Amino acid sequence: MPILNTDTEHDPNKILPIEYDWAREYYEAGVNNNWVPEEIPMQDDISQWNGDALSPAERQLVEWNLGFFSTAESLTANNIVLALYEYVTAPECRQYLLRQAYEEAIHTDTFIYCCDSLGFDPEYLYGMYDRVPSIEEKDEFVVDLTRSIDRPEFTIDTDDDVREFLRDLVGFYVVMEGIFFYAGFAMMLGLKRQNKMEGIGQQFEYIMRDESLHVGFGVDLINQIRTENPGVWTDDFGDEIRELITDAVDLEQIYAYEACPEDAFGMSAAQFAEYVEHVADRRLDQLDLPTAYGTDNPFPWMSEQVDLNKEKNFFETQVTEYQSGASLDW
Ligand code: FE
Ligand code: MN
Repeated sequence: MPILNTDTEHDPNKILPIEYDWAREYYEAGVNNNWVPEEIPMQDDISQWNGDALSPAERQLVEWNLGFFSTAESLTANNIVLALYEYVTAPECRQYLLRQAYEEAIHTDTFIYCCDSLGFDPEYLYGMYDRVPSIEEKDEFVVDLTRSIDRPEFTIDTDDDVREFLRDLVGFYVVMEGIFFYAGFAMMLGLKRQNKMEGIGQQFEYIMRDESLHVGFGVDLINQIRTENPGVWTDDFGDEIRELITDAVDLEQIYAYEACPEDAFGMSAAQFAEYVEHVADRRLDQLDLPTAYGTDNPFPWMSEQVDLNKEKNFFETQVTEYQSGASLDW
């Protein structure tokens, strides 16, 4: 059965035999990474947040990242359920989309937990995209890419329709989860390396581990659709996608400079900007497009968290010795 099934001969409720082993593997990897935010103690974060452990710049960086991610995780979850699920009919891909939707619910829960623990005003946290232009621009950029498949009458009949759909997949999997999340990951993990807000940092590590699977699945999905619909991915379309990615890099770099205006914990905005270029080259390469920057990774320690070169095998290297269920006390 093709990924995008436009005929009615195939039964979407019959998952066996598995045709797309890779989709099934992402599902199993996701299950192996199970976690919930409540397992991570927030006591030290709360006393640091209420004391004077953080500089004003560091406090702003925490607030902006919590503000950006709280909305972005929800946008991603809604896109999976309301836009993608209807059209991706291959049962093993749908099984993964359900798993991913659950993980996005866990991520949404993480920001509820952080908001509650640190005593944020919800209006303040969830209104961040309204007050911070570089956050609003990132959200709007991604939402703009999905406008056409969001129409109720959208169907996938022509090559143009497939391209619209691929553009949505690139928007959420490659741009939102694969680029717009990564400056924030580096900032929060950099803070954790300075023993600041370690609870939130650990939650970001778990989220990043999940996101690296989401990006991997999204890229494999895009490439499979591309294989199954020869002629759709023209040179012009490739150029268009490459431009989307480099435009996204520009927005993410503006965000990095605004979120981190002065050197914080030995990391500079310029380094975050380089890191975003390094990640974007990796994304272009995954889509078989020419790389754009040739920038070295300024944060080699991020590779210990997620080896970008071996992202597919990331789930084999556990962030911590977490065992599913071990810390649950019923
Ligand atoms: Fe997420
Ligand atoms: Mn995700």
